[in-house]
Amino acid sequence: MQTVNVTNSNQESLNPYEIVQKQIDTAAKLLHLPQNIVEILKRPKRVLTVNYPVKLDDGTIEVFEGYRSQHNDALGPTKGGIRFHPDVTLDEVKALSMWMTFKCGVVGLPYGGGKGGVIADPRNYSHAEKERMSRGFMEAIADFVGPDKDIPAPDVYTNAEVMGWMMDTYSRLNGKYSPAVITGKPLSIGGSKGRSEATARGCVITIQKALQELGLPLESATVAIQGFGNAGRVAARLLSDLGCKIVAISDSQGGIYDSNGLHVGEVIECKNEGCIVDYPNAETYITSEELLELDVDVLIPAALENVITSQNAERIQAKVIAEAANGPCTPDADEILNTKGTLVIPDILANSGGVTVSYFEWVQNLSHYYWTEKEVNDRLYEKMVTAYDEVRTMSEQYSVERRTGAFMVSLLKIAEAMEARGWV
Ligand code: NAD
Repeated sequence: MQTVNVTNSNQESLNPYEIVQKQIDTAAKLLHLPQNIVEILKRPKRVLTVNYPVKLDDGTIEVFEGYRSQHNDALGPTKGGIRFHPDVTLDEVKALSMWMTFKCGVVGLPYGGGKGGVIADPRNYSHAEKERMSRGFMEAIADFVGPDKDIPAPDVYTNAEVMGWMMDTYSRLNGKYSPAVITGKPLSIGGSKGRSEATARGCVITIQKALQELGLPLESATVAIQGFGNAGRVAARLLSDLGCKIVAISDSQGGIYDSNGLHVGEVIECKNEGCIVDYPNAETYITSEELLELDVDVLIPAALENVITSQNAERIQAKVIAEAANGPCTPDADEILNTKGTLVIPDILANSGGVTVSYFEWVQNLSHYYWTEKEVNDRLYEKMVTAYDEVRTMSEQYSVERRTGAFMVSLLKIAEAMEARGWV
């Protein structure tokens, strides 16, 4: 099993499991929640570790290690993505499942939090090997998940195709068509209209609300985006359509910058062919770390955790940070950003559009009745705006930054459900 990079040179913890526990403590203290509720919430309820063999194209066998964590099911079945990444760790998966619980709570979904991960870099495997890797993982966790138990979805380096394979494997094992076991599927097998754009669409709604709150015009806002996958790419397109100037974009290989605004459509075409750094029309090339420190109105971290820490937070110039990624800012960075007056829209709010439309997909699968894209987007808009306003009100009432406010909104709902079920 891999271990997490524990601290940076400022002795700041970078272990996401410790970070989320700290975030829970901070919010629970302000709400004077009973300690037994806090103790239950500081650990996942169930965690499964699997090691499963996959036959590679050359006939050899590789054994992959993966995890599925179910944090808390007080509000309903657990829900959360499956990540394929070489740096996946058990602590990371546990932390991500915990953030999912609070994310579902913020937007008022009848779910608890779950998450899965496999230690693998799917970019190093053929399409057929990736299919066997996906089906093998579902086979290994099939008893642990289910439409009323735990419902996975896409995350880093997994997508609709992977969800389709996993749904098929689960359905075969159970001898019946079971689309509600997983969300983010292709449309032809029970996916929801609007799901592939939902994370970014929800994030963009929160950015619109934040800019409005700060009195900054959306049409001329400058934006930098780190990560150009499902979340980052769609956010770039939607914001560019709204008139924002996307001045910088990066992926795992590096970034590009143009003070006059990048042509998002062309950058997407270039990324489809390879990497962002192959884009020929940029003003200049930058690193993914330099992108974070640009003088922009809005910064969207849309890649991985711990990219804004005590080591660079002081140099962040963005007025708004919208956390499309999970866990991009550490608690120490939060403190610095709060002192500087940066408006951070926390991950559990900013990227909750994905799980919200996953919930809509699940509802459609269970009722066998499918909605139009407009219905999906209208309902998403309503949920995001309500959640943003609730978090803002809570934060203002307790004079805390938005992450703590969001945890508080969520904690109240989860604690009430735990009490109603007689757990405490
Ligand atoms: P993805 O696999 O589609 O894309 C990830 C992107 O990040 C890729 O463009 C990759 O090149 C880039 N990347 C990786 N390392 C990087 C680095 N060091 N610097 C810059 N870019 C880097 O993944 P995704 O689904 O877009 O997820 C991105 C983040 O959003 C994750 O934190 C994920 O948990 C979060 N998220 C995703 C969803 C969803 O519905 N997909 C929902 C909620 C949250």
